[in-house]
Amino acid sequence: AETWEEVPLAPPDSIFKLTAAYKADSFPQKINLGVGAYRDDDSKPWVLPVVKKATELLLTDPDIDHEYLPITGLPQFTSAAAKLILGRDSPAILEDRVVSVQTISGTGANHLGALFLSRYYRFGEGGKKVWLSDPTWVNHFAIFRNVQIEPVTYPYYDPATIGLAFEPFLETLRSAAPRSVFLLHACAHNPTGVDPTREQWGQICDIILEKGHYAFFDCAYQGFASGDLDNDAWAVREFVKRGVPLLVCQSFAKNAGLYGERVGAMHVVAPTEEAADRVKSQLSVLQRSEISNPPAHGARLVSLILNEPVLFAQWKEDIKTMAHRIIEMRKELHKLLTEELKTPGNWDHIVNQIGMFSFTGISTEASQALTEKAHIYLTTNGRISMAGLNRKNIRYFAENLDKVVR
Ligand code: PMP
Repeated sequence: AETWEEVPLAPPDSIFKLTAAYKADSFPQKINLGVGAYRDDDSKPWVLPVVKKATELLLTDPDIDHEYLPITGLPQFTSAAAKLILGRDSPAILEDRVVSVQTISGTGANHLGALFLSRYYRFGEGGKKVWLSDPTWVNHFAIFRNVQIEPVTYPYYDPATIGLAFEPFLETLRSAAPRSVFLLHACAHNPTGVDPTREQWGQICDIILEKGHYAFFDCAYQGFASGDLDNDAWAVREFVKRGVPLLVCQSFAKNAGLYGERVGAMHVVAPTEEAADRVKSQLSVLQRSEISNPPAHGARLVSLILNEPVLFAQWKEDIKTMAHRIIEMRKELHKLLTEELKTPGNWDHIVNQIGMFSFTGISTEASQALTEKAHIYLTTNGRISMAGLNRKNIRYFAENLDKVVR
């Protein structure tokens, strides 16, 4: 038999397929609302001004060489990254019980966190499972399956209200076996854009503590949601303050516009400094066999941005530029639909949702009609990337959305 005879052909990744179809389309008013990357008002990728400055500084730094980084990453980067997500005054940081490892962006952070749990977490009666929100970033399923943790889902999104299925979510937290692992999106939930309120986070936290569950936070959009880094880290910090056992996956792809550099971190908040030392030793062993050493360039850029006060201030401005443009587009779309076009239905979710994505609530057929009739590319679940909208194309989008839902 031929060597790879038994390998079945896998379907292409749906998002990348969408991008390819968009690129091949020659219609001048085409819009790509599939991609999860920021675009400026001219539909172009945006290199953050702070990243340009940091790049110049690195280029002229005589001390830069191309040696290996330590296994757990660039220390100035990982410690600043921990402070960014957990807060400078975090009890966990002050008590030296945070273990931080540099990872291959957020995907690598999720993988390393999952691998670590798979090896060392004492799963309860429920077995080796992870609870994911329904829906979630689709890659979560494959990432956990790869390390023999079975993904199961908890209710999260309610199509009837285009909002949070809060009571069913709480019910699942209550009925899950003690010591279950729950994956939570720290802010700007992907794909729905629906986040719990602070009050709701408080109730989620109560049950997690009561049942002894583990919180696996995925934070891919800090700063991107509200434009404020601290605000978007609120849930994670609250859970740490209240003593929930947890880890956090952190990505700098979106908030620093460093998609291709693959810069991220995974932070385990351990109960004691001594436990943290043991956890760190095992994470180093895992990292060694997976990637040996993480890549240097992106971590050096982000380290400069986080540690140099002038650059940090500039970064906060750049984040506001991105987040506020997206918030503006939400307001504009809402206004066009409700005031001008008088599109049937309630569209308040467009302004209530947060972050890069919006779940429009339109049907699969309507989503397909947008692509087929109007050359507007989006996933068939009705999710749109708000970053794909701008002042030049938003009216065309609103008019066609109006047509397909009428
Ligand atoms: N988690 C979530 C929820 C995401 O949306 C993303 C990006 N699409 C990631 C993790 C990881 O992205 P990256 O590996 O590019 O940092």
